[in-house]
Amino acid sequence: MTSKLPTTILYIEDDRASQVLVKRVLGSQGYNVIVAKEGLEGITLAKQNLPQLVLMDINLPNMDGREITTRLRSLPHFENTPIVALTANNSPGSRELALAAGCTGFLTKPIDVATFPDEVKKYLQGHQEELSPYEQNRHLKQYAQAVVERLENKVRELEKANRDLETANQRLRDLDKLKSDFIVLVSHELRTPLTLVSGYAHLMEDNLKTAGDFVSTDFIKGLSEGLNKGIARMEEVVNEIINVSRIASGSLDLSMGPVKMGELIQASYKEFAQICNQRTLNLEFHCDDNLPVIEADGKRLKAAIDHVLSNAVKYTPDGGSIKLSLRVLDNAIDITVADTGIGIPLDKQRKIFEQFYTLGDIAHHSTSKSAFQGGGLGLGLAIAKGIIEAHNGRIWVESERRDHHTLPGSVFHILIPIRQVTFSQSLSY
Ligand code: ADP
Repeated sequence: MTSKLPTTILYIEDDRASQVLVKRVLGSQGYNVIVAKEGLEGITLAKQNLPQLVLMDINLPNMDGREITTRLRSLPHFENTPIVALTANNSPGSRELALAAGCTGFLTKPIDVATFPDEVKKYLQGHQEELSPYEQNRHLKQYAQAVVERLENKVRELEKANRDLETANQRLRDLDKLKSDFIVLVSHELRTPLTLVSGYAHLMEDNLKTAGDFVSTDFIKGLSEGLNKGIARMEEVVNEIINVSRIASGSLDLSMGPVKMGELIQASYKEFAQICNQRTLNLEFHCDDNLPVIEADGKRLKAAIDHVLSNAVKYTPDGGSIKLSLRVLDNAIDITVADTGIGIPLDKQRKIFEQFYTLGDIAHHSTSKSAFQGGGLGLGLAIAKGIIEAHNGRIWVESERRDHHTLPGSVFHILIPIRQVTFSQSLSY
C-alpha cells in the first residue's frame, strides 16, 4: 500500500502571527506548510521543496511579494504553480498589480478561518483569476516602472555602501600605516638614547679595567651626566606614549590649582631663548600686563605650550623668527606661537592634531628636538590638544601652505578659558 505524500504549501510572510495562524489552519487540513520570512529565503525554499502552491505576502522587506512572484515564474517548476497573494493591502489596484506580476489569485488578510482552506483548495485545483488584456497591459507597465525605480534606488544604496566601505578601508589602511610608522619611530627614538647609555656603560667598564681604583670624579661626573641624559630622553618617550594613551582613554588626570600664566610662559620663553640662540632664531615675547591667575594644571599646560614652541623651532630654518604672545581675550587667555617656518598644508591642519600623525617621510626622521625638521613621535600635538581640551580650551593652526622655499610660516592659537580661583590654594606653578 502506498501512502500519498502531503501537499506542500510554501508561505512567504514576515509577520509571525500570520505565519502561526496559516500554519495551524492548513496544517489541520493535512497540508505540509513551510514558511519563509523574506524573499531570498522564500526563493531558496521554493527551489528545494518544489511546493504545489505558494502563498505570498506582498509587503516584505528587501524584495516585495510581486517581485518574488516574477522571479519564481522564471523557474521551470513554477511556470504554472499557483502563487496566491495574501495581503492586508487591498487598496485600489493592488490586486491587479499582483496579477500582472504573475500571481494566480489575490486573497486578503485577516483570513477567514472557516473558508480559507476551501479557497486554497480551489487554487490547487486550477482556479485562476484573470485580467482583461487592457488591464494586464496597463498594470504590467506600472509594475515594470515600479521595479525599475526600486532597482535604481538599490543601485544608489549599493553605490553609497561601496563608497562608505572604501572610506572605511582607506581609514584602515591609514591606521595600518600609522601603526607601522609609529613602530619605526618609537624604535628610532629609543635607539638613540639607548646607544648613548650603552656607550657610557662600556666606557665605564673599560675605564675600570684600565684605571682600577683611580677613576677620577670628573670622569664619573661626565659619565653620570651622559647616562642621565640618555635615561631622561627614554623617560620622555615612554611618558609621551603613556600620556597619549591616557588622553585617548579619557583618563588624563589634571592636578588643578591657581596658575600665573605670565610666569608660566616666561619660564618657557627663557628655556627656548637658549635653544633659539644656538639655532640663530629670533624669539620675541609679548605679554599683556596684569594677566589674571587662572585655575589650571600648570605643569601640563606648560608641557602643551612647550611642545608648540618646540615645533616652531623644529620647523623654522635658521635665521627665522618665532613670536610668542599672551593676552586676555574676552573670558580666555589667548596664546599664539607664530613662526616664519615651512608652514602646514591646508588639508593637513586638522590631521596634525591626531595621534601618531607626522607630516613628511619618516625615513628622514631625526630624533633631535631642536634641529631644523628634527622629528618626533607625531604625538606632541595630540597630547597638547588633549591637555588643552581637558582645560575646556581650544588649539588650532593657521597657515597658508607648506613651502620650504617661500616659508609661509604657521600661527598656532591656544585659548584657555579663565576660571575664578580661590586664593587659599597654593600656586601650582
Ligand atoms: P612630531 O613629533 O612629528 O613633531 P607633532 O604632533 O608635534 O609630531 O606634529 C605633527 C606634525 O605637524 C609634524 O610632523 C609637522 O609636520 C607638523 N607641524 C607641527 N608644528 C609645525 C610648525 N610649527 N610648522 C610646520 N609644521 C608643523
